[in-house]
Amino acid sequence: MSTTQVEAGIGARAPFTAAKPYPLLIGGEPVATAETFAAIDPSVGRPWAELAEALPEDVDRAVAAAREALPAWRSTGPAERQRLLDAIADRIEADPEWPLLLATENGRPIREAEMADVPTAAAIFRYYAGLARGLDGANVAAEDPELRITTVREPVGVVASLIPWNSPLISTALKVAPALAAGNTVVLKPSEFAAASVVEFGLRTADLVPPGILNILTGFGPEAGAALVGHRGVDKISFTGGVPTARAILHAAADNVTPAILELGGKSAFVICPDADLELAVADALMGIAFQNGQVCFAASRLFLHEEIRDEFLARFVAKLGAVRIGDAIDPATQVGPLVSSAHRDRVLGHVERAVSEGGVLLSGGHPLPAEGELADGFYVQPGVIDDPEGRTAVAREEVFGPVVTVQTWSGEEEVVARANRSEYGLAAGVWTRDLARAHRFATALEAGTVWVNTWFDVSPGQPLGGIKNSGYGREMSAETLLEYTTPKAVAMRISQARPELFG
Ligand code: NAD
Repeated sequence: MSTTQVEAGIGARAPFTAAKPYPLLIGGEPVATAETFAAIDPSVGRPWAELAEALPEDVDRAVAAAREALPAWRSTGPAERQRLLDAIADRIEADPEWPLLLATENGRPIREAEMADVPTAAAIFRYYAGLARGLDGANVAAEDPELRITTVREPVGVVASLIPWNSPLISTALKVAPALAAGNTVVLKPSEFAAASVVEFGLRTADLVPPGILNILTGFGPEAGAALVGHRGVDKISFTGGVPTARAILHAAADNVTPAILELGGKSAFVICPDADLELAVADALMGIAFQNGQVCFAASRLFLHEEIRDEFLARFVAKLGAVRIGDAIDPATQVGPLVSSAHRDRVLGHVERAVSEGGVLLSGGHPLPAEGELADGFYVQPGVIDDPEGRTAVAREEVFGPVVTVQTWSGEEEVVARANRSEYGLAAGVWTRDLARAHRFATALEAGTVWVNTWFDVSPGQPLGGIKNSGYGREMSAETLLEYTTPKAVAMRISQARPELFG
């Protein structure tokens, strides 16, 4: 596989075979729609599946089904919820088709789908299966000894979940598992760019899941998505996606005062100190920008290199990034696949072009990658490295959501913290140093929901994921998440006949 041209693998290409067309799933039943839309396999730029397109009347039906299923599901005990979530985890783990499906759908390299998406999604269901047993309330120490005050945590009700396209199986797990563990019912709206895998999830677990507790609506954001978030029958919105969409959702939610969890974008800073183990730091920085083809909210897209190690780090980093194997996502040898769509590829390349016009220096990549044979119409890009020592270009501030990293240079600790924090986002940040005290200083000072030290992308169920500033609010993947999907109710009981003497 050359790095200047994507070459087709040897032999016939065998992507995932889709059901035709994929239906909506409402109240446990597949529902066909009059209109459908095509899913494009980004490795070849051609349609591979057809999906039902939900309209506002389908949204009404799905919300009604979720509401109808709510009384029975919220009355279940922890054992039943735990059993369901464990059974879903078992089903995901036992299904060998997930990696090929995920790679066909959005260009995720199949080896990443296998190593990361499938086990992580199963682990999230298992984690919440355990937490379903921990929804305890509290006894409140009342001022008045004649009062007994307890709290219980109740489900919020019908949850509208909206997810992006980059990790559809993990996003489904992050939304569905905690909501069901807490006794809610769900209407899930996947992205129009990665919807088939979410419907497959629904179809492959349909015999386990009681009808109506999980409803899946495929369709477009401005139509199905907007109708869902503005629906009066929705009790909570759980959204993962971009900041502009989040703003539209909050406006739509305002009329019904519907609360929301928002998991949004990022522009994460990775600070490399002069004492870093350069071999490992380069490996982590590569992971930070090449994993998921760079299309990940947590991408380490702003590198801050100390002036003492800058040249050596860059020489190694640029050489390694330039040598990654770019190609067909379903080829197990591929390290970086195509971007999700031609429009997204053009957007990513537009960021690079603008950076160069603003004085950024393109150190490598940042251009479309010609492909041949079956892959000729795929959306391939050579990952780009832009030198911008002072961080003056727009690309040093704006989320690209693609394999483009900017490099800045620093010399003083306080100065680099200030520059790293000068961002509208606050999703993740990282530092590479062998100095323990310095690691703690950075971990304290960096403004982000997650700080990685001497690593990037390490996550585990139980670790709260989420952001500050424009990266959103609310946390996923952790015990805190159950608080988002429940509401506390206080029950106050008087155990004596004594009453305040106010009205006789
Ligand atoms: P997006 O905001 O375009 O779409 C996300 C979802 O919202 C999709 O299902 C879409 O159909 C729906 N939608 C679009 N317009 C809508 C509207 N008006 N009303 C209701 N729903 C609407 O995001 P995307 O392009 O799919 O994903 C990329 C973004 O997601 C990036 O900004 C990335 O950083 C973010 N992201 C964040 C996290 C996280 O955990 N913080 C994880 C993954 C992706």
